[in-house]
Amino acid sequence: MKIAPQLFPLVNSERHQRKLLRIVLVVLFIFSCVIGSLNVFAFGAYQIASFNFISAVASVGIWFYFRRTTNLVVASWLLITAVLFNLAAFMGTSKGAAYSIIWITVLPPLAFFLLGRRAGSWVTGIAFVATVAFIVFHLRPLSDVNFTTGAILNIAEVLLVLWLLFRFYEGSRSDAYRELERLSVVDKLTGIHNRSKLDQLLAAHIQLAARTDMPLSVILIDIDHFKRVNDHYGHLFGDVVLQQFVESICGAVRQTDEFGRWGGEEFLLLCPATSIQDAEALANKLRQIVSASVHTDNGSITFSAGVTSVRSLVPSSNVIREADHALYAAKNAGRNRVVCYTPELESLQNFI
Ligand code: GH3
Ligand code: MG
Ligand code: MG
Repeated sequence: MKIAPQLFPLVNSERHQRKLLRIVLVVLFIFSCVIGSLNVFAFGAYQIASFNFISAVASVGIWFYFRRTTNLVVASWLLITAVLFNLAAFMGTSKGAAYSIIWITVLPPLAFFLLGRRAGSWVTGIAFVATVAFIVFHLRPLSDVNFTTGAILNIAEVLLVLWLLFRFYEGSRSDAYRELERLSVVDKLTGIHNRSKLDQLLAAHIQLAARTDMPLSVILIDIDHFKRVNDHYGHLFGDVVLQQFVESICGAVRQTDEFGRWGGEEFLLLCPATSIQDAEALANKLRQIVSASVHTDNGSITFSAGVTSVRSLVPSSNVIREADHALYAAKNAGRNRVVCYTPELESLQNFI
């Protein structure tokens, strides 16, 4: 059975970059074909037309490369190179006529968004300096273009402001995306994985277990009588207890284990490459750690846990259902204990 886990991040900045890349490739292709044809048939400007057709072929090449490899980084660099080639060819052949250098201002939004703040700064900075140098040393001496010192200073200043603004804008945009990405996978109260992230991790780890033939053990944890804590001490105190509970568990599990909040006072611990017996022992160790370190005036906080294990490709919902049956059995047997899943539990619980 093929299971498609949700492996992509929930908030995905790359989606927009991929979209922009495709749009620019289409625009570049159409633009190059139309202008190239005009240059051949209307103006007889064969040199400029050859540049246009090279760009059209390059945009098709990058399109197919991107379709085949989906490598956004390489495709973005190829596209920016094609855009730079176009700008250089256009400005060079038009010799500054009709204010053609204005086209350099399309570079920063593309370069910063596709290449990121660092590479975008370098590419845009070098292209801007080259443009000003081109105006000063190449265009200015030409008698038919009137670039006064004031005009050149204005151009240089606008390019500098554009560079600074886009650098700042890209920095804050990527920071905001990173924060959004973090918030979409983290539980606000406890700082551990949230339910969405656990869903992703569980699906991915089941695939890994099936591929490596190493058991993935799953421990579903539910704090005992937590409602009483809230009722007795208030919700805010209950929140602090949840935070202390999480802290004590995080300090005791392996780096490779994944711990998250399944919902309310329920938590899920994924233990890759761990047998069900080892997971049971771990859950009992955690029980002792929690009861020794998290308490109220009325005594220690305890939890019940259901454990199950998987090493083949099964849907996540099956694994959770098994852990849930085991947890239910632990609660029924009096709480503050760990129960491992067996198929008999299901038939027993069907009679309850
Ligand atoms: P059991 O031993 O059967 O699990 O009993 P219980 O009281 O723990 O379970 P029950 O489902 O009756 O109650 C769960 C309680 O957990 C009720 C709910 O208000 C509380 N809870 C869920 N999320 C939060 C939270 O974020 N903060 C606080 N303070 N309480 C929460
Ligand atoms: Mg519960
Ligand atoms: Mg509970």
